[in-house]
Amino acid sequence: MIKKLLCDFHIHTTWSDGSLPLNQVVDLYGRAGFDVICVTDHISDKENINEENAAFIIPTSQCKNYLEALWNESKRAWETYQMLIIPGFEVTNNIKHYHILAIDIKEYIDASLPVDKIIESIHNQNGVAIACHPHIKDSEGNESLDLSKYLWDNHDKYVNLFDAWEIANRDDVFNVVGLKKFNYIANGDFHEERHLYSWKTLLQCEKNTEAVKKAIRDNTDVAIFLFRKSKPQLHQPG
Ligand code: ZN
Ligand code: ZN
Ligand code: ZN
Repeated sequence: MIKKLLCDFHIHTTWSDGSLPLNQVVDLYGRAGFDVICVTDHISDKENINEENAAFIIPTSQCKNYLEALWNESKRAWETYQMLIIPGFEVTNNIKHYHILAIDIKEYIDASLPVDKIIESIHNQNGVAIACHPHIKDSEGNESLDLSKYLWDNHDKYVNLFDAWEIANRDDVFNVVGLKKFNYIANGDFHEERHLYSWKTLLQCEKNTEAVKKAIRDNTDVAIFLFRKSKPQLHQPG
């Protein structure tokens, strides 16, 4: 029986709007005992590429350097921690409201494209396409954020195109993904150190990129796991 791999497929660094540089993120996850991480900094639709948003997205001209930095870190992560790093993007469209994780990606993708074209582009690169945080509600149960609202509003259209949907993102759980019996994974959507403690995916497969992608696509030996530092303090306001 193969050991289950502890995975987080949704992580941001200072390449986009994360607060820690890539090497510190790698050390944090490596020391915490993770087996697989996918770094997924934001690339944006064309309408949102401007001076004001520059700090929150990878500049299009830097995407190649970003991917190179990931490949370099992946060597160090494997040697130091036996941790696999998979290069990714969060393809972020904040005009039409869809965020899509592109896992194991080799080239830039235009986030202005329609959802089906983005997924096609990910698949053409032999990557895995994940629908991000598709059903965000606040603690009162109201739909509070519409970052990826479009994906759930059109889930019937896209269910067979995505390889999986986030069933949990950081502290949030999207019961509708379970009720619909969609393929699922769970991720931390890491932006700062405290987000290490969040929902994660456990996969039962060999520790290499092809096996991990197959495990997500097949979605038979997937579990979700709430990774916590210590006993949670309940009933804290806010
Ligand atoms: Zn972000
Ligand atoms: Zn997002
Ligand atoms: Zn994100």
